[in-house]
Amino acid sequence: MGPAIRREKLLLARALSATGVSAALLHAQTLLHPRGFVRVVNYHGTPPVSADAFARQMAFYADHFSPVTPGDLERFVRDRRWVAPRPGLIISFDDGLRSNFDVATPLLERFGFTGWFFVPVGFVDEPAERQAQYARDHMIQAGAAPADGRLAMSWSELRTLARGHVVGCHTRTHLRLAATVPPARLEDEIVTARRDLEARIERPVDSFCWVGGEEESYSAEAARVVRRAGYRYAFMTNNAPLAARTDPMQIQRTNIEADWPVDVVRFQLSGVMDALYAPKRARVNKLTAR
Ligand SMILES: [Zn+2]
Repeated sequence: MGPAIRREKLLLARALSATGVSAALLHAQTLLHPRGFVRVVNYHGTPPVSADAFARQMAFYADHFSPVTPGDLERFVRDRRWVAPRPGLIISFDDGLRSNFDVATPLLERFGFTGWFFVPVGFVDEPAERQAQYARDHMIQAGAAPADGRLAMSWSELRTLARGHVVGCHTRTHLRLAATVPPARLEDEIVTARRDLEARIERPVDSFCWVGGEEESYSAEAARVVRRAGYRYAFMTNNAPLAARTDPMQIQRTNIEADWPVDVVRFQLSGVMDALYAPKRARVNKLTAR
């Protein structure tokens, strides 16, 4: 989001919050989904400077949503009924950034949420002193490097995270899986990268997350490889609740930035973004359907 769009959205979000419209729309979604639903949000970096704003977002989430563990998601997909008193909320983080371990994870745990961390395996494999260049070369918005240069989580940190949270595969090289990507490359980015991730974190990996989010970052070929690879869940970024009938290989997320005020978060989750994304979502879902 550019600064101008962001300012307009902020003003709109403030106005809708002040008049209670966002809160009403948030509540209305529970009426639209009588079998319950899970909302999925995604973050990128969570730098120390955004810690206070991120903590306020967590407090807002804790007031309106229930946490979702892998077991909760499995039951929801199996039974097609969400049983917690409030909608579920999956809080996910893309790109394996170190600030997610240092800043976001303690706050997630303070508010009782499970984090879902989607990792480009090659970024974590890269030596610390080369990670800034790797991030630039692979379109990873990593922010300013700390003194030791390490921008990604370490494998040891990811093994720690995997004990109480979820670590998923976000390709090997943070590659947008366009229709032009050759089959051998798809195999490495989706299948072999997952196997390497499982070996490094010493856990099975059930979740895949697409890279980029632009419409041309999805392809039917890549979708077939993701399904064949045996992932249980695949995450996209086209804004919709995960409802009883959602294909678990087409779980949509809503992007949130760690420094946004709660008014903007409430607006992002009000359902307005879902409506704006409906045409694109329909095209991508059709392209990547079984
Ligand atoms: Zn990414």
